[in-house]
Amino acid sequence: IEKLAALGQLAAGVAHEVNNPLAGLRNAFELIKADLTPQHPHFELLELIDREIERVGAIIHQMYQLYGRTPQRPTEFDLGQAVRDVVNLLSRVASKRGVSLQAETADELPRVRLPEGEVKQVLYNLMQNAIQASPPGETVRVRIAGDRDEIAVRVEDRGAGIPDDVLPRIFDPFFSTKTGDVHAGMGLGLSVSRRVIEALGGRIDVDSRPARGSTFTAVFPAGAEISQEEAGDAHTEHDPEDPDC
Ligand code: ADP
Repeated sequence: IEKLAALGQLAAGVAHEVNNPLAGLRNAFELIKADLTPQHPHFELLELIDREIERVGAIIHQMYQLYGRTPQRPTEFDLGQAVRDVVNLLSRVASKRGVSLQAETADELPRVRLPEGEVKQVLYNLMQNAIQASPPGETVRVRIAGDRDEIAVRVEDRGAGIPDDVLPRIFDPFFSTKTGDVHAGMGLGLSVSRRVIEALGGRIDVDSRPARGSTFTAVFPAGAEISQEEAGDAHTEHDPEDPDC
């Protein structure tokens, strides 16, 4: 456990340190890019560099989320709107793959009191996975259902599903089956999501059938009192000075 904590601190430290030179790289590259015309012999490499810089940025961001995040303050917001925001953010990614991303959200939903950015990140990761798992022509459906205690966001795809021997490992950090793909993830999406949502007092449920598809359900606490309490816990839980951490 101690070794793991030390490793986590190291990872967070590295992530933090890499961010600055990365920002420098990104700025310098933007300048170069602005100067090169499509006639330049290496013009097509620009896209590649761009993508790879973004990829490094995403990895760093996720590592930071996983090991070094400072909990955000909870605010009151409409979860249905948050779902629609994330759907809008990903709709281009989805349509590029020929996948349709549909949110079915009721107009009247209880508002939640949670850190909105963290909630959106969890939803983003689940929807992105569902899109990546879907063959062209398929639809990813996102639904919200809630009662007084909890609100569940279901992300349902009709992809290949997750084989039984893979299922127990999908929440492990750096576990990914997408290694062959240039746009492959780092295997941090689900581990980050689980860590984030559990700190909020929620959970992620998975139901997956090979050849039928997968449904990931993010369950958030609905009560304002509960989430405030949890947010308080989350602050002490991530105190870097705490020797028990
Ligand atoms: P990454 O997306 O970078 O691979 P994740 O932690 O988000 O990392 O996911 C880990 C693994 O879980 C994926 O590589 C994939 O094998 C599996 N997985 C996650 N979501 C789905 C899904 N909707 N359908 C099928 N497999 C999935």
